Order: sequence, then C-alpha cells, then structure tokens
Amino acid sequence: MIYADANATTPLLPEVLEAMLPWLGGGHANPSGSYAAAKRARAAIDRAREQVAALIGAEPEEIVFTGCGTESVNTALRSLDALCGPGAAVVSAIEHSAVLRCVESLPRETRLVPVAGGGRLAMDAFEAALDGAAFVSIMAANNETGVIQPLREVVEIAAARGIPVHTDAIQAGGKIPLDVKALGVDLLSLSAHKFHGPTGVGALHVRRGLKFEPLLRGGGQEGGRRSGTENTAGIVGMGAAAAIAAAGIPAGLAGARDAFEQAVLTSIAGVTVNGDPAHRLPNTSHLSFDQCDASGLLILLDAAGVACSAGSACMTGKQRPSHVQLAMGIPAERAKSSLRFSFSRPNTVEEAVRAAGLLARAVEKLRRVQGSGVGPVVVYPRTDIRNF
Ligand code: PLP
Repeated sequence: MIYADANATTPLLPEVLEAMLPWLGGGHANPSGSYAAAKRARAAIDRAREQVAALIGAEPEEIVFTGCGTESVNTALRSLDALCGPGAAVVSAIEHSAVLRCVESLPRETRLVPVAGGGRLAMDAFEAALDGAAFVSIMAANNETGVIQPLREVVEIAAARGIPVHTDAIQAGGKIPLDVKALGVDLLSLSAHKFHGPTGVGALHVRRGLKFEPLLRGGGQEGGRRSGTENTAGIVGMGAAAAIAAAGIPAGLAGARDAFEQAVLTSIAGVTVNGDPAHRLPNTSHLSFDQCDASGLLILLDAAGVACSAGSACMTGKQRPSHVQLAMGIPAERAKSSLRFSFSRPNTVEEAVRAAGLLARAVEKLRRVQGSGVGPVVVYPRTDIRNF
C-alpha cells in the first residue's frame, strides 16, 4: 500500500516505538508512586515534557499532557469559556470539528470568520468580529487543504485588544516550525499521532501566567491541570516523536508532495490544486478532478493500493461537500470531486510518483465509466468517509 493519508494519522516511527516499549512491557509503575520504578516513570514523563516543549519553543511547565488532540482543544476552549467575561467566541469557518462542535456547545455566541478563496483567514472580517469578543481560536494549518493561517497577525490584532488566543496546531505540529513565544499564543493544542507519535496522547500548551480551568478533575496529575493516571508509554512516545520533529523537517516530505503534484498535473487533465500554494503544509495536496466523483476515485484507488481521503464528508449517508471547501467558495460539484493526499516521513518520491500514475489510471477509468452513461461505479452510501 502507498500510504498518502498522513493528515488522518501518521505511522509510528520505529525509533518512537523503541522508546515506548520499556513502558509497555515491564514499566508498570504509577508515576505518582514513591518507589524507584515510579520515580523512573516520572523522570521519563519529565523528559518527554521537555521534548514537547522544545518542539514549540515553550517552557516544560507550560505543557499539559492530555488523551488526544480533541481533548486538548476542548480543555483550552472550556477553560477560556470559564474564565473570560461575556462576549463571543471567534473562530474561523474552516476549523476542525473538535473546535466547531466545542464552541457550539458553549453558552455564548460563536462567530465564524470567513476565509478567502485560497483558504486563508479574511483579516478584515476577523478584525470586525473582535468587537465584543471574549476569546479567539484559529487553527495554525487546515487539516484538509494544508493551508497555513496568518497566526502571528491574528495574535497581534487580538492581543492589542486584550483578547486571548488558542490555536489548534494539531496539523501544523511537526510539519512546520512553531514557536509559541514568537507567535504569542496563549494556548496551543497538539496531537502525537499527527507527527509519528502514538494515538491516545496529546498536549496542551498553556502560557505561563494564564489563568486556567481544568476540564478533568480528580487526582491532580499534571500539576492539577489534567487529572488521570498518566499514559507513560504514550507520553514517552510523544516526546520521542517531538524530538525527531524538532531535529528538522526532512526535505523529502515536500519532495514527495511536490513530485506527486507535478506528476498529476502533467499526466491528468482537468485537475485543480486547492489552497493558497504559497502558504501550504509541505506534505499536503488537495486536488479536484473534473467529472470525477471523489467516492468513486477512493474506491478505485483503494483497489489499486493507494490510501488517501475524500475532501468531502459523508454525513447521514449523503455525500456533502466539506465545510472547508464551501467556506473557500469551491462550488459543490468541484468539492465533491476532491481528494486529499498527505505524505509523511516514510514516503519516497518514487512512491509518490507511482501514486500519481495509479491516480491517473483511476481518473481515466472513472471518467470513461461516468461518461459512457453506465453511471458511476460508486456505491452509496459510503459511510466510512469522514472528515479528519
Ligand atoms: N484538529 C485538527 C486540525 C485535526 O486534524 C484533528 C485530527 O484529525 C484534530 C483536531 C483531532 O485530533 P485527535 O484525533 O488527536 O483528537
């Protein structure tokens, strides 16, 4: 299989697994214990905290380990909701559902800031939305298109009005450099499995001095900011993955994506690259194919051994364009013909070019079938298509 769905989840790197293994087999000590084995587990967690902090230019004390990226986001937004005065929650229209569903559930107004055609935040609209705002949450990079948001400007504008900012950096973490101090964000969410760490562990950066309200209360772990016995193996894995990412983003990552896109654009007619090309994650390619249903392409690509994602979400059995594409003004028909290819460290340029060749064949086949009046090869509803 050629795995080109890294924005959904990345493969665990062998070095990360190796770092985790001692804590999965035999390292069974509760880090809160007073005996030697517990102290070793505590030291391993402290080391991982330093590694994750180093990835984003934070202080170790500013890192709170959580159970996943969604938990980090919900913790951040609920803490802001609890501690900020009245006013609206200002978020972009292209946030991940972890942000959108959470702010919708809060007892305050949610303002959705539009994006321009390239998928970047409309800054005039953002500024206007800040009148009477309590807090802001703008993602660092979008999971579907890979478009990187103007976070520094967002924080500058919000901070000038004393409005705190959370960023969902779950797709950006480990793919582009992030520095919480240079950015000036108050809260930042990360998820280990998006940068070759394990699933089931995330981190939340909480700026030193920021008032904070925990989501999970109980035994007082993580300095009282996230109760629950620590997932030592997962946290150690996240630390190891962060250290690898902090050592440098491999040139091969953009190489695979760029080689893939070039091969696609030279071998397939009627392809549109979605998202501002000057501000994209180096690993993501979001493409629309004229006269091709994305579900049909997914089936053909799966059969050919290529794993990728549809750029649209299947909800209640109906193929619907994703909110991200709609917000970008992509017409519904084109949105339903979009696929996301996202690469990660193990992908090679050769593999990416091979994926482009298999894609060209799938597109040709689908267009032939759909154009012949036989009807699409798609079987509705595809319930396994979701938005990651
Ligand atoms: N935010 C973004 C931008 C994501 O891409 C994802 C994962 O798909 C999440 C949040 C949720 O992260 P997790 O799966 O770790 O809960």
